[in-house]
Order: sequence, then C-alpha cells, then structure tokens
Amino acid sequence: MSEEVLEKYMKAGEIACRVRKLAHAIVKPGMRVLELVERLESEILSLGGKPAFPINVSINEIAAHFTPPPHDTSVIPENSIVKIDIGVHIDGYIADTATTIVFDPRYERLAEAANAALEHAVKMLRPGVRFSEIGRVIEATIRSYGYKPILNLCGHSIDVYTIHAGEAIPNHYDLKNVGKLRNNRAYAIEPFATDGVGLVDETSVVTIYALRYNPKKLKGLSLESQTFFNRVFRERRTLPFTPRWYITEVTNIDNILRQLSLAGLLTEYPVLVERTRGVVAQFEHTVVVYRNSIYVTTSSC
Ligand code: MN
Ligand code: MN
Repeated sequence: MSEEVLEKYMKAGEIACRVRKLAHAIVKPGMRVLELVERLESEILSLGGKPAFPINVSINEIAAHFTPPPHDTSVIPENSIVKIDIGVHIDGYIADTATTIVFDPRYERLAEAANAALEHAVKMLRPGVRFSEIGRVIEATIRSYGYKPILNLCGHSIDVYTIHAGEAIPNHYDLKNVGKLRNNRAYAIEPFATDGVGLVDETSVVTIYALRYNPKKLKGLSLESQTFFNRVFRERRTLPFTPRWYITEVTNIDNILRQLSLAGLLTEYPVLVERTRGVVAQFEHTVVVYRNSIYVTTSSC
C-alpha cells in the first residue's frame, strides 16, 4: 500500500463520517426513507466521493441490506431503532461505516452495547491480532449488557472496488476463524447486537444488487441488457447498486435484472431480518493497517 492509497482511504472515510453525522442530524420519525437516502447519497457526491453501495436504512428487526426501491413511500416509524449504513469510495478505496439511532428509550442500552463493542474492538487492533480475539471482545461486551451478538453477520476485509474481500471478522468467539489483522490491508469491524436469538435470515425482498463479471455469458442477452451491464460495470465494477439509481435511464429495469440474474451475472443481497424478530443495533468503522499503524478512517471528521 502506498501513501497515496492511504490518503484515498482516509478521504473516503472522512466523507463517510460527515454523511453519518448528517444522517444523525436529519433522521426523524415520519421522514420518508427515500428522502433520507437521497439526501445522504447526494451528500456523498457533493463531498467528492461516490457511493460504495446504496445507503442502507434498516429498521427495528431488519438487520441489514434494505435500501428503498423507486417510489417507496415508507417512513421512519415512531419508537423505532434505525441502522444507517454508509459506503463511500474514492477510486475504489472504500469506507464502510454504520450507526444506530434510537427513537425509544427502551432501545438505548441495546445501541450502547453495539457501540461499546465496536469501541472495545477498535482499541485492541494492532497488526497480528487474531480475528477470533476481536470476536471474543465483541461478544463479551454485548453479552455484558444482556444482549446477543448476531452470529451470522461479520466484519470483513476490504479491497479495491471490493467490499467483502474474503476474510470474515466474527462478532463472537469463533476459534475456527484463524485470520489475523495484517499490514497494508483494510477492514470493516461491525458488531450487531440484538434482544433476539442472534441470527439473521434472508427475506424474499431484494433491493440491492451487484454485477458478476462473466463476459461470455453476456453474449446471449438482449442488447438492452448488455448495454445496461456495460454501463454499470464501467462505473461500478462489482460494487453494489440499486435499481432506484437507474430508473430514469432504462424503462424496464426489472426485466433487465431478471435477464442478468438468469444468466448468472447478478449477485442479489436480500434484506436480512432477525430470526425471532428481535430488534437490532449496529455500529461500524473501517480501519486501515499501514506501516504497523492503525487508521480508523471513518472515526473523525
Ligand atoms: Mn456497512
Ligand atoms: Mn461492512
């Protein structure tokens, strides 16, 4: 990793941090979720970044991966707990950060548990630290508040234009995970806490997609689908996107996505819900390990 790359990670992190602050300032019960994400996504652009993925707004028992579809009319409910997950990239160097906002005092300690877990995890980071140790600290912190970590959601290594680069950082003490924090790498740490059983399931709702690169399979598709694929790939490679971004450009995006999916050219990210409908809190930072130092790219702005 070069100094220049570190600077891009830091810039992406600063923008993500500013957008997270803006989210805290504007999100209120009654606000349309669509208005919220559009304001946050346009803030990313005006600060000089690009979205690394669509803004996720996951409410109550929804843990992750919801962004409003086009023309969505849903609003932030009263007495809710809202996770906002923000991704920014500069030339493919990604910052991934999330926060939880509570509109009911009964959820405050749950949010505090996830936040404390993230703080404790970040404090112990150094080159060589085992992912299982990070998971142990996250789990112990969340359990000390009387809640459970979500076992099947993890932090992850990050690479250029790649949000989930292959390594998982568990949110529980998982001795099977033999990974270690390494120099010149980027990672997202993201504890999820719940008052439910501590597992998420996929729902049938999908609002976030990513392309899978396989030029051979593109050949048999309609010209319209090929054009869409090439246009999105040029801009985003395999970073996630949402149909909401393209409805003014293509008339039948659902059709195109169906074709791409059938051809194996699409990854789908279903909305994830807590198995027992427990409510969920999440906090997340991105860290870069550069020349044996830890940079929490999304913590200061
Ligand atoms: Mn995230
Ligand atoms: Mn993440």
